[in-house]
Amino acid sequence: MKPINDEGMPNEAGRDLLSSCVHCGFCLEVCPTYQLTGDENNSPRGRLRLWKQEASGELPVDAWTDFYTSECVGCLACEPACPANVPYGQILNQVRNQHVAAGRNRPSLQTRVGDYLARRGRLFDMTMMPLRLFRRYGVLRHRKLFPGKPAVVLSTADYAHKLTKQFRPTGRRVGLFAGCLMESVFREINFATVRVLVENNFQVVVPTDQACCGAFQHHTGLGDTDLLDQRNRKAFAIDDVDIVLTNSSGCGLALTSAIVGTKPVRDVIDFLEDESLVKRDRVTGQARMYIDLPCHLVHGQKVARLARRVFDATGYQWELAPMAHDCCGAGGTYQFDKPENAAKILQRKSEFLRDAPGDPIYLVTTNHVCMMQWNSVVRSVAGGRSIQVRHLIQMLDPGERSAPRSFNR
Ligand code: SF4
Ligand code: SF4
Repeated sequence: MKPINDEGMPNEAGRDLLSSCVHCGFCLEVCPTYQLTGDENNSPRGRLRLWKQEASGELPVDAWTDFYTSECVGCLACEPACPANVPYGQILNQVRNQHVAAGRNRPSLQTRVGDYLARRGRLFDMTMMPLRLFRRYGVLRHRKLFPGKPAVVLSTADYAHKLTKQFRPTGRRVGLFAGCLMESVFREINFATVRVLVENNFQVVVPTDQACCGAFQHHTGLGDTDLLDQRNRKAFAIDDVDIVLTNSSGCGLALTSAIVGTKPVRDVIDFLEDESLVKRDRVTGQARMYIDLPCHLVHGQKVARLARRVFDATGYQWELAPMAHDCCGAGGTYQFDKPENAAKILQRKSEFLRDAPGDPIYLVTTNHVCMMQWNSVVRSVAGGRSIQVRHLIQMLDPGERSAPRSFNR
């Protein structure tokens, strides 16, 4: 149900959605931009009121509305806090699209190029090859790019095929969504995901004709994802695969609505929580793992439970990071569009790292975009200690050179 029609004005459904807010204010306390500014217009309730009053003609089309719309991180913390079940995220996506279509928000050239490439997976992959090469050999160090050693040429699909042939897992066949940025830049996380699944006896299928999940387009207001959704529905309509797993909570949220009615989509960590997992046996010394929870997993996909068995299976001493349920400020492209806001939002959460016990410290999450955001602060809070940002699946990873006998046969 689209709240805004093709002409960019609220239709009947849209007016109902915008009117569904009962102004109780329960959402204010969980909203990072309201916490940061104390400004009602910078809260879910304030934004909904601005959009509604503009739609009804009570307010003129106004640059202030554009500004407060762009200030929203899109973390969706307001949704579970709302007793009236206002579908804030759905409304936000439509408003963002409307603002771009009407020329009220002009995405940067960088964003438009990103959209162009994200819609053309192979081209994106080729364009990012030098970046993979630089990351692999540690040539390029950027505060947003966490360290990692992605394969430069071998794709996740080919790697999954190779490992399945080599170790012949006999269990359930699962589909894996590789993602566009994940596959093009952070491929080592996809490889670790394949290894963990194969080690736990799952047959992993990575369709080569899958497309971007559309999350980038939702974040930037760059329109229609129908073609991408169609491609993903077709790609995952595979016999014998009854579930699609994702290792990025943002992609998981977008893909869930993109392929709805085709296959259920689940976050790989939440999926593994229900399985009898191979546990890592390690000597961890002073190492400590702090787990942060991505908004699009907790608020978007509404995965409320903690994957405690998976955390234990890593073999590390772990605890939740303070304010683990709060937004880190990553917000898809928000950390690039609004870097000052994003840094202030993360500052409150990351202060604990200055004197947190553990050496090394692993700051662990399950979304590559959150990993980039966390990586931007580790140097400033490390104080000479080693702080490494990791994906949780990497903490379970048997490793590239693991012996076949470590595999659960
Ligand atoms: S999505 Fe996040 S930043 Fe935006 S209004 Fe809701 S709580 Fe606030
Ligand atoms: S919690 Fe829901 S109903 Fe209450 S003010 Fe916020 S959006 Fe409106």
